[in-house]
Amino acid sequence: MSKQIWFLTGSQGLYGDDVLLQVRDQSAQISNALAGAKEIAAEVVAKPTLTDAAAIRRLMLEANADDDCVGVIAWMHTFSPAKMWIGGLDALRKPFLHLHTQVNRDLPWASIDMDFMNLNQAAHGDREFAYIATRLGVPRKTVAGHVSDPVVINRVGIWSRAALAWSELRTMKMVRFGDNMRNVAVTEGDKVEAERRLGVSVNTYGVNDLVAVVDQVAEAEIDALITEYLDLYDVAEELHPGADRADSLRYGARIEVALRRFVIDGGYGAFTTNFEDLGGLRQLPGLAVQRLMAEGIGFGGEGDWKTAVLGRTLKTMAAGLPGGTSFMEDYTYHLEPGNHLILGAHMLEVCPTIAVGTPRIEVHALGIGGREDPVRMVFDAAPGDAVTLGLSDLGDRFRMVANEITVVPPLAEMPNLPVARAVWAPKPDFATSTECWLSAGGPHHTVMSTALKAEHLTDLAEMLGVELALIGAETKTSQFLKELRWNNAYHRLAMGF
Ligand code: MN
Repeated sequence: MSKQIWFLTGSQGLYGDDVLLQVRDQSAQISNALAGAKEIAAEVVAKPTLTDAAAIRRLMLEANADDDCVGVIAWMHTFSPAKMWIGGLDALRKPFLHLHTQVNRDLPWASIDMDFMNLNQAAHGDREFAYIATRLGVPRKTVAGHVSDPVVINRVGIWSRAALAWSELRTMKMVRFGDNMRNVAVTEGDKVEAERRLGVSVNTYGVNDLVAVVDQVAEAEIDALITEYLDLYDVAEELHPGADRADSLRYGARIEVALRRFVIDGGYGAFTTNFEDLGGLRQLPGLAVQRLMAEGIGFGGEGDWKTAVLGRTLKTMAAGLPGGTSFMEDYTYHLEPGNHLILGAHMLEVCPTIAVGTPRIEVHALGIGGREDPVRMVFDAAPGDAVTLGLSDLGDRFRMVANEITVVPPLAEMPNLPVARAVWAPKPDFATSTECWLSAGGPHHTVMSTALKAEHLTDLAEMLGVELALIGAETKTSQFLKELRWNNAYHRLAMGF
């Protein structure tokens, strides 16, 4: 684990060296508790106690310059007069968390004296600090409570994952094979603003640049992948070596080898395809896309680069957590009174990390694209709580729209639907969810994650300075519509002139 979160402790020289030694030891108790927590997804590195403006500014500049530092946590052990934090906080460009805690959990009622008070005064030290952070407009998450409380550690852990995703996004490169689908509006977007606001570099290659790599794949490389497919998945009999349609699977494997070479070896975190622009590809990539997604690569269909970028970002955030993260599209509805459900799927490209059971590899005709029948994995999504997240370009800025959902088992088998799919109940209910989503201009493509919660998305949005319109269990449509209006005003003002 090379990525780090720096832990800063604020104090001042007023108390004398003896007290500062105690501050150092007590700070170590807090930072050790954080460093030992498996929920925190980066190495927690404690820095020496900060007691003057020059040292604070220097440390913040070092945090900015260190590529391994993905975020900074600060805690004011003692009273740290906050004018000395102005220069440092103003310079800080990394995700920031203010931990409001103290070493002692319980007051020692019988023995409490002024020495104890002096060594446990974050109650007002952190207020002085938070005042200046607020006055400077420093984006941050504030977490309050004792570090022995699992809720506190979990919330810091969620922030640490968002910080890792932020760091990934700042340096991400993604490749579009061809442009986005003709005449589609929501998959358009400002790629310059994406690089400025999010960090990701979005560039296009002709699909035949990929085809050139596809054509160079060696038969032995295909053989190795076929063996792997037979080992890992339930492969339809007609695709087995020597069977009628074995060549379809071999071509799917050929695309996978080529995509690995182009995308992963090329250092790209995400990619798109477009069925309207397949060049010399004989199949629309399906199985190959699913396999790359399962290894953490983001994907968007129809040239949807914004959703592909979100895919990589959320997969980075969810790494190591139970559950999965996939490209998804709201496809069709079950509108039974009292049990409204959404069926999500795509033409082919749903990630098997969300699958329940062993995916089955099949080949079927696909009317769209006009090529040979593509191979794909077919499965149902595992039930559980999840989120969906979409990214729209409103013309002057980006807006993320998210929904808390519950993935449920399908109500019956779907033997004639030859694609991977998920069925879910949106929160708080179907009408509120969809009316709010449509009012917010959220896209039809999303990233669905059964590994992440709304708080992960909230923390990421704060770090990016991008609006997040969140539709959750408590959402009321009338209030949500007002929030959209307020957000419009706020974000336009926040952009400045
Ligand atoms: Mn689509």
